[in-house]
Amino acid sequence: MNLPPFSTEPSLDFAIPANREAMRAALRQMEGRLGEDYPLVIGGRRVGSTEQIVSVNPAHPDQVVGRHAAAQLEHVEEALAAGWQAFPGWSRTPVEERAAVLVRAAELVRRRRHELAAVMVYEVGKPWDEADGEAAEAVDLMEWYARQALQFASGDRTAPIPGEITQFRYIPLGVGAVISPWNFPVALTTGMTTAALVAGNCVVLKPANTACTTAAFLVRIWEDAGLPPGVINLLTGRGSLVGDPLVDHPQTRFVAFTGSREVGVRINERAARVHPGQRWLKRVQLEMGGKNAVVVDETADLERAARDIAISAFGFQGQKCSAGSRAVVVQQVYDQLLAMVLERVREIRMGDPVDPEVTMGPVVDSAAEEKILDYIEVGKREGELVLGGTKPEGEGYFIEPTVFSGVRSEARIAQEEIFGPVLAVMPARDFEDAIRIANSTEYGLTGSYFSRDPERIAFAKERIHVGNLYVNRKSTGALMGVHPFGGFNMSGTDTKAGGPDYLLFFMQGQSIAERL
Ligand code: NAP
Repeated sequence: MNLPPFSTEPSLDFAIPANREAMRAALRQMEGRLGEDYPLVIGGRRVGSTEQIVSVNPAHPDQVVGRHAAAQLEHVEEALAAGWQAFPGWSRTPVEERAAVLVRAAELVRRRRHELAAVMVYEVGKPWDEADGEAAEAVDLMEWYARQALQFASGDRTAPIPGEITQFRYIPLGVGAVISPWNFPVALTTGMTTAALVAGNCVVLKPANTACTTAAFLVRIWEDAGLPPGVINLLTGRGSLVGDPLVDHPQTRFVAFTGSREVGVRINERAARVHPGQRWLKRVQLEMGGKNAVVVDETADLERAARDIAISAFGFQGQKCSAGSRAVVVQQVYDQLLAMVLERVREIRMGDPVDPEVTMGPVVDSAAEEKILDYIEVGKREGELVLGGTKPEGEGYFIEPTVFSGVRSEARIAQEEIFGPVLAVMPARDFEDAIRIANSTEYGLTGSYFSRDPERIAFAKERIHVGNLYVNRKSTGALMGVHPFGGFNMSGTDTKAGGPDYLLFFMQGQSIAERL
């Protein structure tokens, strides 16, 4: 199988009337589908449940996006059994055929990118550009992993020895759980799932309950691309009910998780336990939260830094693991930069993201809203509230973009992931102090450094301890295949999605020697 060289899928420009109209049409079509029922998918069968999860539009919480069968304990058993039943056939399917499924799925996402973007607008409140960028990222992930699977299946990587035919090959692990978050419901669900699949594994997918409808659309696309029954099984359900049983189950071979630190640590501990009948140690990847810093020194291009601080902090309402929720600014330019950042933040247009002019939508649900508003109260005691800080009147989980100034590095709003539109601006004595502050949390996901001084940039590259470091650019917007993504310390196990080695997690190496 010969695939053309990988190149990233371009984002669409919604200033172009045809793109705008196509997205409007997809939103209208999605509006007509709101409130539909969706079953579980187990072994290719559509399965109902006694309980439902209702996914709602965070901009209009009375509007139901989808009603989903909520998986119960017996469904965990059934889904794992269906996966193991499909595994012998799928794992022995030639890698070229498995890669071809991903390439076909990528093509389907290209054709249906507006449809997928529209689901995200309604289900998680993504503004248009963000939603479209995410659909493009899903295409990149599948195209990248298809090529990677072919690469791992070819080539000699061991030394020959006379008198023996030797072989080293990668084989899949088995059936694993993919547990995904709601904030990148298309890209992250696609990335973890399709990497596992193309490596020859079968998957039980447990998406976040606030993004079930998006997951149901994706599973449909993979089925349409040619996945046999049982290779992908969809368990929409509450993590609090089915999460532990799925992780604990002796038939679960691996767990690929992206989500909060709290749930990730819990999975790590539980997956380490060996249960009766379990014949392996579970492999676990955990990509968790961030408290990312954008550092600015006095030599930096301040206009550019201010623009990128505002984008990093408030893009998708600050609900990105890569969000730049701390701006650490050298004292000499602190007041000037803060004023420039505030100017940028005031330009943000908050509202219902079905409107293409809206650049900031609602936060995902009432629990998120409550948590963020609580942190804003904490922030009022820890710094000076210089912008926002309130929830506007009316329906929807909207919170104004909020900026605190004069925040110290030990403050809770500088240490804990808020996961909302709240920026802590923090003064530093000089660039070294700024880097020390940037490194002062338990996380280590992304970070940015703005400077025009090559020596300081070299120093920052050595010292800022994060999985994804960006110089003179925003802390968000990693491109798959280009910026392998994953964090250090409490941000995760650094498996580097979209990187050259990501598939290794989902495979085991087998060495075969035949004496002549
Ligand atoms: P979350 O609350 O940890 O949920 C993530 C997933 O875990 C959901 O599917 C959830 O199901 C499930 N879950 C809940 N309890 C579980 C349990 N006991 N066992 C197994 N699974 C369980 O995270 P989130 O709110 O969806 O996502 C936001 C978090 O993800 C942030 O911390 C963000 O930084 C992080 N994130 C990290 C990355 C990265 O690459 N490092 C990327 C994106 C997001 P329910 O929804 O049903 O509870």
